[in-house]
Amino acid sequence: MAFLTEEEPPRGVALAVLPGIRRVVARNPSVMTYQGTNTYLLDGDDGLTVIDPGPADEVHVADVLRAAGDVPVRRIVLTHTHSDHYGALPALAAKTGAAVYGYKKSARRDFAPQFPLDDGDEVAGLKALFTPGHAADHLSFEYFVAGTGKILFSGDHVMSWSSSIVSPPDGDMVAYYRSLELLLARDEVLYLGGHGPLLPEPRISVKELLDHRKMREASILEAVKVQDWTVAELAAHLYHKVDFRLKMAAQRNVLAHLLKLEHEGIVKQADGAAMEVPDDYVPDDLPPADEKSIGKRDIEILRRDAERRFVFLG
Ligand SMILES: [Zn+2]
Repeated sequence: MAFLTEEEPPRGVALAVLPGIRRVVARNPSVMTYQGTNTYLLDGDDGLTVIDPGPADEVHVADVLRAAGDVPVRRIVLTHTHSDHYGALPALAAKTGAAVYGYKKSARRDFAPQFPLDDGDEVAGLKALFTPGHAADHLSFEYFVAGTGKILFSGDHVMSWSSSIVSPPDGDMVAYYRSLELLLARDEVLYLGGHGPLLPEPRISVKELLDHRKMREASILEAVKVQDWTVAELAAHLYHKVDFRLKMAAQRNVLAHLLKLEHEGIVKQADGAAMEVPDDYVPDDLPPADEKSIGKRDIEILRRDAERRFVFLG
């Protein structure tokens, strides 16, 4: 797949993206977040709307407030509640008094948006489009820019620099396929994603992402037809990742594919516990930098999932 790259953007400043839209790139670069999370600032009649406050980082909050300057931040809108998008929300909301909007059913148990959004709802010219898959509470937003046309704030559902991780149970491959197909039928001319530069000709990328997943699914199916695999074995067989995070991400994607195939009655889990979700589970862009920075409970979940074994129902 062809992905876009960009130089490390200047930190602490708002970068012009399109007329009335600026971007402040958070200082959280990594193999999972590229140059950092994009926080978008939209000009409006009564002040600014912020899309995705970014990670819990005081410096980033200060960067966003400096970019706003004397113009009040009226609203904060979330594409989803993974911590690299949500983390700065409490601080930014407290400092600005802005109204907070997000999908009506938050994936985080410790958060409910003040103004819940459903598919089709509108706020400040943004029209919500429910696009679960990468995250269970993921919204994209249609927006009109004079001189450009219809664009989409696509969050982490579709990004210019990389494909998305789909990590169960918050991530769901069946939903992800469906949300990609949803975008194929639409006509936005540009996407502004949660990480990376703007994406021109977005439908070409959406089609490529979908084809890429179908190819991956076909290789998984081919492999399970020959023998049984655990998630970890199959991920190692199909991907050749050395970096801990990329290796874990590959395992999460393979698990998501296998659960989709199980949902379709094509494979079945041979052994392993049911996919229960702990009460205090906070869904997130798994995984962090190394095993040491993950909670003991969460590393247990990763290990348990890696050992799930799937068989072909031929
Ligand atoms: Zn993200």
